[in-house]
This record gives sequence, structure tokens and C-alpha cells, in this order.
Amino acid sequence: MENFSELIIPRFLRYVRICTTSDRRNAETPSSEGQWELARLLAEELKVLGIVDAEITDHCYVLAKIPASPGFQDKPTIGFMAHLDTSQDASGINIKPITEKNDAGDTIIRSDGTTLLGADDKAGIAEIIGAAEYLLSHPEINHGPVLIIFSPDEETGKGLPFFPMDRIKALTGGLSACYTLDGGPLGELETECFNAIEAKVSFTGRVIHLGTARGKLANACLMAAAFAVMLPRTESPEATDGYYGYYCPTEISGNLQQAELEVFIRDFDLGRVKERAAVLETFARAVETQFPGGKVQVEWKIQYLNMKEKIDSHPEVLAKLEEAARRTGVEFYLKPIRGGTDGSRLTELGIPTPNIFIGGRDFHSLSEWVSVSDMETACRLVVELVRVWGA
Ligand SMILES: [Zn+2]
Repeated sequence: MENFSELIIPRFLRYVRICTTSDRRNAETPSSEGQWELARLLAEELKVLGIVDAEITDHCYVLAKIPASPGFQDKPTIGFMAHLDTSQDASGINIKPITEKNDAGDTIIRSDGTTLLGADDKAGIAEIIGAAEYLLSHPEINHGPVLIIFSPDEETGKGLPFFPMDRIKALTGGLSACYTLDGGPLGELETECFNAIEAKVSFTGRVIHLGTARGKLANACLMAAAFAVMLPRTESPEATDGYYGYYCPTEISGNLQQAELEVFIRDFDLGRVKERAAVLETFARAVETQFPGGKVQVEWKIQYLNMKEKIDSHPEVLAKLEEAARRTGVEFYLKPIRGGTDGSRLTELGIPTPNIFIGGRDFHSLSEWVSVSDMETACRLVVELVRVWGA
């Protein structure tokens, strides 16, 4: 057995040292300069491996195609994707990765506790490039065309609108499936995510001089607060897990005259997420009754959809993943994602995109860490998946 850790760990340690924290407040894509720096490094490394036409798009997508083995050009093209940016939730500046043994005797990599580690998603990047190096140096493995995609601004959600679909069609004729390497611990596979609705609730008060307000004032601040406390606390993110959905007020602002409340609504079932949105109308009428003269308006839109239905309609995508997991000796389990992923949005665009574990834990935090042997397994799983699709 080849030593996979040599293919991935030195790379991983190089990548995490580049600060690629994305910036929610920056409207540009990519939202930070460091993502360009990492993209250029990755394109260069891919060229050294022999993918001489690796390219970077105007919005910082890295694209690199591993050609099919001779005689396998007709096999479906599959993609592997990981994201360049790291979360703003913890500092990504001057990351000093520490390699050590944990209590269980496994080798892990963590930060020094002052920053996040950036395994999310640089472990995914290192695993994909490690697998590419393995495939390119083992021409005896027959496979179809493989496209490597590194994307900007996954954490801010601002990358995927610039997904280079046309360029990818030109390069490959279209992807039959894509797999993101952006999941958690060993064995975790994700084919299901929330349906997400964002609601904006606007409160218009009736204002009058406060000295003579008795019986007349409708205070928009209080209307927004009254509405927020109507949201059932048993259906909040802090009270739910697994397959339970929720309401979550995420932003509130306003004054006597006008107030705004933003509410995230989540559920794995599309019917139920829409029912929850409809319930907000009932709350709106109830608040108007409590505050005579005040007006409440609810608007909502779908942010993203559960990818399960579309992935299930391409059963080969999961079947091949299961076969590759079996060959790699990975006991896998399906876990619902209590959030969205770029994969869910790609699935909506017609490319079924499940998510694969990368071996990391405690993402977006100062205690983030990754298991070296789980990273090796993820890398071997990618190689097997390529082999299974080529068979
Ligand atoms: Zn991620």
C-alpha cells in the first residue's frame, strides 16, 4: 500500500498557512485576496503534476482536467470539488499547524488554539490533489475523465453564483456527477440538506408624540419583539437536531416607526418548510390585532433546496460511492446536513453532488482538528471512486 499521507500532509500544511478567510461584507467574489494566492499555488502544483492546462477563472475557480485513460474517453466525466476559503467565525491569520498524537494514539493536526486550522476545506483540497497525483503516477488504473474544481467563497455563499458551468461544459461536455470533499468525520456521507427559506418581516408603527401617546401609539420596536417571541422556542436551532426543522430570527432592527425582522426557516421536507412560512402570516395578523394601527408585512423566498430528491433520481451517483466505500473498507453512514452546501446548489443546477467526509472535526472554531489517517482514507476513497466510475 502506497503511503498516502506523503501525498497529502505536506500539501495540507502548505495550504493552511495561506490565510483565505472570506469576508461576508465584501460584495466581490472572491471576497479576499488570499483565495487568489491559494488558487495560484494550486494551479501551479497541478501543472507540475502534469495537468498543464490547469486554469483559474475570473472569479477564482480553479479548473483542472485529468484526461481519461486511452480507450476510456467515453466514460462519464465526474468532478471533485473543495473550497478555497475558510470561515470568518474564527481567525485564519498566521495559522501554525501542530501535529501530535491524541489520547487514542492517532496522529492529528490542530491549530495552536489562537486560530482555526482550516481543515475545512484545505483537507478536502489536499485529498483531491493527493488523489490526482496518485492517479497520474499510476497509469495502470483505467478511468474516465476527471475534473478538479476548487471554488471560492463557499462560506459566504457568494462563490456558487459564479460557477463556471459553460466553461466546464466546454472542457468536459458536462459532468455526470460531482462530489464535494467538505464533510466531517470518517465515514460520513451527505446526500441530504435543509430546504431553506429566508423571510423578511416588516413592521410599520403608528407614531405620535410620546407625551400624548396613550391609546394611540403603535410602537414598531415592540411589534417586532412581540412577533419574535411568537416563534416557537421548541422549533429553534438550539432545541432541535437530526431531522427536525426550525425557525430562527437572525437579525432585528428598527425604531418607533419602522422595524425589520429576518427569520430563517429550515426543514428537510419542502411542504413543511412552506407551511412554516405560511404560519408567519398568522403571527403577523396576531401582532396587528395586539397593536391597533400597526401594519405587518411578510415576504419570503427560497434560499436553497434539499438535494436528496435530485440525487435519488440518479441512483448510480450514490451506488458508486457506496461501492468505492466498500472497496476502501470504510463503514459509511448518511447524515442529514443541517444547512446548505455548494453541492446542494450544484445539484439544483443539474449536477448531482453528494458530500464526502474529509476527516476533520470542530470546523469554524479554534479547536478545529483533523485526523491524518482519516485524511488518507478520504484520499483513497477518491481514487477508488474514480476507478469505479471508469469500470
Ligand atoms: Zn467547508
